Amino acid sequence: MTHIAVLGSTNMDLVVYVEKPPRRGETVTGREFRTIPGGKGANQAVAAARAGATVSMIGAVGHDTFGTRLRSTLEHSGVTTDHLRTVEGPSGTAHIVVDDEGGNAIVVIPGANGTVDHLVPGDEGLIASADALLLQLEIPLAAVLAGAQTARAHGVRTILTPAPVQPLPPELLAATDLLVPNEHEAATLTGLADPFAAGAALLDRVPRVVITLGAAGSVYLTRDAEPLAVPAPRVTAVDSTGAGDTYVGALAVALGEERPIREAMTWAAAAAALSVQREGASASMPYRSEIEARYP
Ligand code: ATP
Repeated sequence: MTHIAVLGSTNMDLVVYVEKPPRRGETVTGREFRTIPGGKGANQAVAAARAGATVSMIGAVGHDTFGTRLRSTLEHSGVTTDHLRTVEGPSGTAHIVVDDEGGNAIVVIPGANGTVDHLVPGDEGLIASADALLLQLEIPLAAVLAGAQTARAHGVRTILTPAPVQPLPPELLAATDLLVPNEHEAATLTGLADPFAAGAALLDRVPRVVITLGAAGSVYLTRDAEPLAVPAPRVTAVDSTGAGDTYVGALAVALGEERPIREAMTWAAAAAALSVQREGASASMPYRSEIEARYP
């Protein structure tokens, strides 16, 4: 079985649904409130575990009820949480106001995620034993870099999702095997709106790039071959939250199983297409049997 380590964030999303968001100084009555476990690290961990890998999560939750729930959500999907620390203070939270026009306004409080600024004893051994390390940018860059360099030192494949998008230090890119931005992140990182042009520019910094294009699928670029475009299945999307994380988690599993890149991308797209047809982030992520029913 493929073993994947994820070094990243766990967050409780606190979501209110309201007709119109309040202006400064105004109080409004909303319609509904939901707490939704998330964080890009945790989401990718759940996606990979459900897609059939053995997954270990490295990160931190706070000493609060959100932390308890974030941990149990991961464990419920089969993610090992021995390396998920419980630290003093609150868990990471995202405070999200969703209005009736589908707009949203978000405040993120890193909480426990902000304490993940270094690896602790045991993390290195876990990373060294994995087939791949998944990284995103919702924890301090120092830890992302330490994780990537540790993986690189042990010959472990590193897959980086550059979100939230920010300038990437050259040392981090030097330790990245596969960069997986969405088209907006690729454009921000390169200043180039066209994904093929952006991808080509990113190949100056990393050897392999997959750019996700929402309903238009994804493209793969590498230095020694023509770009490869893989379409997404045509489905009726009801909630695309977590589609990118589902794609990355499933892609990592397929690559860990040594599937060729086109097949791995097609499999990841099948997983992501299933997730967008259901509500929720990690709750909408498909299990391996569901993916295989679509794409064996
Ligand atoms: P999100 O932020 O919503 O998690 P993202 O912006 O990181 O997603 P996208 O490029 O929107 O990433 O989507 C990732 C992948 O999910 C796409 O490459 C595609 O395979 C799949 N996907 C997303 N939206 C759709 C859709 N409407 N129909 C089918 N597949 C989709």
